[in-house]
Amino acid sequence: TFMNIQDIVQLGKIGSGNSGTVTKALHVPDSKVIAKKTIPVEKNNDKIINQLIRELTIMKNLKPHPNLVEFYGAFYDQSTNNEIIILLEYMNCGSLDKILSTYHSFVNRNLIPQDIVVKWFNTLSISRISASVLTGLSYLYDNYKIIHRDIKPSNILIGSKGQVKICDFGVSKTLINSIADTFVGTSTYMSPERIQGNVYSTKGDVWSLGLTLIELVTGEFPLGGHNDTPDGILDLLQRIVNEPSPSLSAQVANKYPPMMNDFIKRCCIKDEKLRPSMKDLLNHPFILNFNDKDKEFKIWAKRIRSYMKDEKQYKREQFERKKFQEY
Ligand code: ADP
Ligand code: MG
Repeated sequence: TFMNIQDIVQLGKIGSGNSGTVTKALHVPDSKVIAKKTIPVEKNNDKIINQLIRELTIMKNLKPHPNLVEFYGAFYDQSTNNEIIILLEYMNCGSLDKILSTYHSFVNRNLIPQDIVVKWFNTLSISRISASVLTGLSYLYDNYKIIHRDIKPSNILIGSKGQVKICDFGVSKTLINSIADTFVGTSTYMSPERIQGNVYSTKGDVWSLGLTLIELVTGEFPLGGHNDTPDGILDLLQRIVNEPSPSLSAQVANKYPPMMNDFIKRCCIKDEKLRPSMKDLLNHPFILNFNDKDKEFKIWAKRIRSYMKDEKQYKREQFERKKFQEY
């Protein structure tokens, strides 16, 4: 189902990232809530604009898949604003980074005990998230030879019916390259072989998935912080290449079964040749063991949704209180 830009009414902001801003929007003809992504583009940078439009055309021709966020259309209006607008399926639990930061905000306010991260990102949910990401990525590669290149918590979205979907495929290549040039917000989930400029395969996405999983269960990006200066980023990139694989501390690892630890360890193997492929990993016991747990995962997603709603309510109250004080 493709949508017309004239039928869209913009609603509240959801978030923003390296490439642009995402808001909620309403598709009036069927009252469907969708996500609207706005990417500013330089007016005369025809090279990037044309490339983006070419990639968006590819997205339009992709057949929908349960693990890919659905695409409803893309628009570029040169005469008005210098921006590209992409209409996407809205995912009502948000992205994994948002879920993770909501979890932290609950802990900081002493509303839930710290230990409960084990319940938010438990073995079941980590397995189902991994399976879904790998299935979506395999579909993209097997059918369209698309490599994602930007797997990270904010590009993995959750729906309250138990959906796990990848977004920002297709556009990622050009955007990442143009953003990487500026040295700001460079993706730190990049694999060692990619940093070293070697041939880039789908195994790079496996590495990024590994880092993402570590971040979910520890609450922290595994390779330490970096500031957005060229030196800070260069230092981080060097650490990825030179230091041993990132891994879970014994304290965290002990909270999860050995098969999950083994799975994460394999994703984070530095040598691309020794790192398993997506197909290998889809046959790992950690994935196979939870393949039939649809019902349980739906319950998990519903619970996450209720927490995300509470957090929205809390932010709204904070906002109202602040406004009140300003009077
Ligand atoms: P980034 O992925 O670098 O954070 P994006 O511009 O791609 O930046 O997205 C910004 C935020 O908007 C994401 O972090 C995510 O939380 C949210 N988001 C993006 N797409 C959707 C969607 N389809 N449904 C719900 N939330 C979304
Ligand atoms: Mg994104």
